[in-house]
Amino acid sequence: MTDQVIGFIGLGQMGSRMAARLLAAGHRVVAYDPVAAALEAAVAQGAVRAANPREVADRADTVFASLPSPGVVRAVALGPDGVLQGQRARCFVDLSTTGPRVAGEVAAGFAEAGRSTFDCPVSGGITGAASGRLAIMVSGPREEYAALEPLLQAMGKPFYCGEKPGQAQVLKLCNNLLAAAALAVTSEAMAMGVKAGLDPALMCEVINASSGRNSATQDKFPRAVIPRSFDFGFTTGLSHKDVRLCVDEAEAMGVPMVVGSAVRQMLAVTSATFGPESDFTHIARVVEQWADVEIGG
Ligand code: NAD
Repeated sequence: MTDQVIGFIGLGQMGSRMAARLLAAGHRVVAYDPVAAALEAAVAQGAVRAANPREVADRADTVFASLPSPGVVRAVALGPDGVLQGQRARCFVDLSTTGPRVAGEVAAGFAEAGRSTFDCPVSGGITGAASGRLAIMVSGPREEYAALEPLLQAMGKPFYCGEKPGQAQVLKLCNNLLAAAALAVTSEAMAMGVKAGLDPALMCEVINASSGRNSATQDKFPRAVIPRSFDFGFTTGLSHKDVRLCVDEAEAMGVPMVVGSAVRQMLAVTSATFGPESDFTHIARVVEQWADVEIGG
């Protein structure tokens, strides 16, 4: 237990588990989520309830957030009842995947008030969040990082990426583009193989011993596509948001993303067909429909 009070805003799939890690490590946590059931679950684990982000920042020294979109991060950080209006918090740490642009806006707003921000997007899904094994990408002021690092270590393994706001967000978008691209192109390759009469489990085994192995052949197909459970734990809507942010930022920077744009379209089709709340392994089902084949076990 330290004297420091931690704020946590956004207690969804990821946030609830990361807040639980901080509580389990002995930290005092003040929490807020507009969904009553999410807030109640955190209170039942020992968090103290707040009525809005400003109240969290009135009572906490460092405020973490795990939120769904850039607009929500902007409102929570800079809005009229936002963290910046709170009297106590000196530091805002965004664990969401919301792109470099909003990270820059939030950092500028806080810097004007003499406060600091870190963008700290995470990778590892709900399993990594629950077990404290997330990869945590960090950008923000180097001289203040030493104080933040032990808090991040309660949730996973931090990697300091740079001082400039948004650098960690760029790295996270690159990672998620690669994960979605691997899933999309693996779906095409697996549909082709199965239509030719190959066993999909054997295909994964051979590819995983060969040069085509990737996160879809090693994990998503064996775990969620071949058994037909489609429950990997990441929604099509979130993946679409990440790839859209990535391709838009790349375009703004003058980096062409021809393959990335195709992956973005595949996610748009998957979202239109199965809904944004569907698991993103449903990309495989889109390819199955087009190819008239089922990649089943
Ligand atoms: P989620 O939708 O389950 O959780 C978001 C939470 O934010 C919800 O509880 C929601 O009520 C809350 N919220 C919405 N508006 C709010 C507001 N104005 N003020 C306070 N809280 C508000 O999403 P998630 O899966 O937990 O993802 C959160 C972030 O983490 C996203 O940016 C996502 O891209 C990223 N992420 C998710 C995963 C994953 O596997 N789910 C993995 C890595 C990163």
